[in-house]
Amino acid sequence: MVPANIRIVLVRPTHPGNVGATARAMKNMSLRSLYLIAPENFPSPQATDRAVGADDVLQGAVICPTLDAALKDCHLVIGTSARPRYIEWPELEPEACARRLVDGAQHGPVALLFGQERTGLLNTELDRCHFLVTIPSDKEYPSLNLACAVQILAYEILRAVLAGTTASAADAREGKPVSSEDMQRYYLHLEEVLQQIGFLDPENPRLLMRRLTRLFNRAGLDHNELNILRGILTSVQQRRDKT
Ligand code: SAH
Repeated sequence: MVPANIRIVLVRPTHPGNVGATARAMKNMSLRSLYLIAPENFPSPQATDRAVGADDVLQGAVICPTLDAALKDCHLVIGTSARPRYIEWPELEPEACARRLVDGAQHGPVALLFGQERTGLLNTELDRCHFLVTIPSDKEYPSLNLACAVQILAYEILRAVLAGTTASAADAREGKPVSSEDMQRYYLHLEEVLQQIGFLDPENPRLLMRRLTRLFNRAGLDHNELNILRGILTSVQQRRDKT
């Protein structure tokens, strides 16, 4: 059984045909949970045509105005990209990506993000990802059609399910994994404290917060660990208030 906790998230898709073809690609691989972030032109007869018998997946699609709304209860988010980025996010091969998602889905919702046809995922969207996955492709012509990329990764997910799961590093966690929403609150708190102690210059923030996000995403915190970090930040603020 492919876990229902695995979400396929299309961020700002522009072509309804791609949304329909994605629904079909998902259903073929036993995936059901489709999230659409601010889709252009949906619902649409073109999407239904391309879904060919997977209209139940289309009809069940959750439409969200923002990425935050779709990810808030997810504890693992993996982004897809056709090309390497300026600041590197930790990368996974398609097979390892699928294993992580299948393992992670045992502990709560997980998401695989796909970018808009023209722009791909923006850096601010990639900031929400614990890992990035790139499907190996031609160096000169690396960009696959959106629904084709979904198909390949959905296939890897089904293969991971059929092969059975293996314990991943994330299972070393003791407590409940932290949701994306709680991590966002932590980052805001951290940024506030770093500014208060003069470590982060709001006029010249550089890539500090992005690098810190990457570091914490790699660690895969549990709730106890997050509480300790929040406690440290609060102590710093209380100390500062007293002086
Ligand atoms: N010009 C964009 C390409 C967008 S293609 C860019 O350079 O990023 C639309 C989406 O399909 C991408 O955002 C990604 O989600 C998926 N995709 C296309 N090719 C891919 C590849 N080789 N590996 C992983 N995802 C890919």
